[in-house]
Amino acid sequence: MTITAADLQFDREHIWHPYTSLINPLPCYPVVSADGCELTLSDGRQLVDGMSSWWAAIHGYNNARLNQAAKDQIDQMAHVMFGGITHPSAIALSRQLVDMTALSLDRVFLADSGSVAVEVAIKMALQYWVAKGQQNKCRLLTVENGYHGDTFAAMSVCDPVNGMHELFSGVLSKQLFAAAPQSRYDGQWHESDLDSLTQLFERHHNEVAAMIIEPIVQGAGGMRIYHPNYLKAVRQLCDQYDVLLICDEIATGFGRTGKLFGYQHADIIPDILCLGKAITGGYMTLAATLTSQAIGEEICRTKAGVFMHGPTFMANPLACAVAAQSLKIINENHWVAQVGAIEQQLKTELALCLELPNVVDVRVLGAIGVVELDSAVDMAAIQQYFVEQGVWIRPFGKLIYLMPPFIITPAQLSKLTNAVLSAAKGYK
Ligand code: PMP
Repeated sequence: MTITAADLQFDREHIWHPYTSLINPLPCYPVVSADGCELTLSDGRQLVDGMSSWWAAIHGYNNARLNQAAKDQIDQMAHVMFGGITHPSAIALSRQLVDMTALSLDRVFLADSGSVAVEVAIKMALQYWVAKGQQNKCRLLTVENGYHGDTFAAMSVCDPVNGMHELFSGVLSKQLFAAAPQSRYDGQWHESDLDSLTQLFERHHNEVAAMIIEPIVQGAGGMRIYHPNYLKAVRQLCDQYDVLLICDEIATGFGRTGKLFGYQHADIIPDILCLGKAITGGYMTLAATLTSQAIGEEICRTKAGVFMHGPTFMANPLACAVAAQSLKIINENHWVAQVGAIEQQLKTELALCLELPNVVDVRVLGAIGVVELDSAVDMAAIQQYFVEQGVWIRPFGKLIYLMPPFIITPAQLSKLTNAVLSAAKGYK
């Protein structure tokens, strides 16, 4: 497969990429294949992947078992509607999801993407309170610096400053935002972290349907890693004030933080859990929203009698078959040692960045490494620099971060950390 200069020109003129301008598009790098932890550009250059295609490709690219699962399924059927029909791959996947997550999370809604999984979780919470005759509980509580997706309900709980609130202020529901937790995961716990959150619970619990939070690691809203006591307190406050807890594990789920799920760092169990990204090993789009029997059944006690959601491609068999295989690989538990080794190496090698005057912070948890600079990077320049170094790393704002596939070798990871260190020293 090749991409010509004319193809790239067409791309620049006609195709939107994530968060890009059609007036001033930044250059896009043509990738023609990917294998293991490497992406191959159309000119033959190979880049070590530090992004796992945004948290997703945990088993690496061109994985023989995931390929086979897709091929086997496509020979049976690529897709079939899920209304009034079920199929083996949806059942196999859902069985695994029920087994892997906390005991109480045993009702599964298969959604098309992370944002949709969040929409579904929010809708579940709202419909639950309608069923209970408490329509007044229709707002959401969350924390600053969060990110939950690009659809409208999801956007309404993204960070109010670096999210899209200003742009869509007339349309987005007005939600409640507590100050983001400041105590670091590995640092001292400050009880004062809870002040703003506690106040919001005290004042507004009668109107709050659910609290939504990314467990332990706030991803696209700032790559912040916070203290487990905060999450423990969130669970306690939700219980105390009769508010449902939604954990958005779309980024953190399936081993990325060193635990299978982020909520396990705080030994809590959410009422509703959103999963996505790595669920298919990054092969295709699929997500899931899980809840308990009790909440699931309550939701169905409204006048409608059903849960009001059902997209066309719900439980797409191809995606389910690959996801079932991806979870099988996870259940073999090699990720525990892999993520542990990545964490140690990231800690050792990224620590060198702390000696640089323009580096404000270095944070590592599991297979996530973040270097925070004192000012925003020049995206086009740093991207080109990284490609010249033979790595694929895509920073945002002041943050250069790594979340490699779990199968990365120590040598490949060193290539990534060396590139981060040299970029932080000056990439222009
Ligand atoms: N929640 C979190 C925590 C995420 O990181 C993301 C994606 N970055 C989403 C939701 C939205 O997922 P998607 O992009 O698949 O819609």
